Amino acid sequence: MAEREGRMVEVTCSFCGGSGRDPFGVMSWLSTCCVCNGSGVVRVAAPYQRCAHCQGTGAIKTLTCTVCQGKGYVPCIPGPVVTCPECRGTGDDASSSLACIACRGRGLLPQKGWQ
Ligand SMILES: [Zn+2]
Ligand SMILES: [Zn+2]
Ligand SMILES: [Zn+2]
Repeated sequence: MAEREGRMVEVTCSFCGGSGRDPFGVMSWLSTCCVCNGSGVVRVAAPYQRCAHCQGTGAIKTLTCTVCQGKGYVPCIPGPVVTCPECRGTGDDASSSLACIACRGRGLLPQKGWQ
């Protein structure tokens, strides 16, 4: 039996490091983390990989990473992948702090002809 795609696993919330608190104290240092709602864990589809855009931190400056929604992890692209030539694997758009458009911030692209 092959494992179904999209199986959800719980990982430590990268945005707050598992504390469940807002790491930047935007509202208050005691406010709950907006990514995990204070639980310290988030669910991500397995298999997953570290988010290239935020380097697994879940945050871009003090904002939630738009690529992984602050989780710090993104689901793996199925099949063979290549490093994105636009951002050279960083997941960043060179002209802004936004995510690379070509790879949507993952730093990886499906290998040509596979999908
Ligand atoms: Zn959190
Ligand atoms: Zn991210
Ligand atoms: Zn890219």
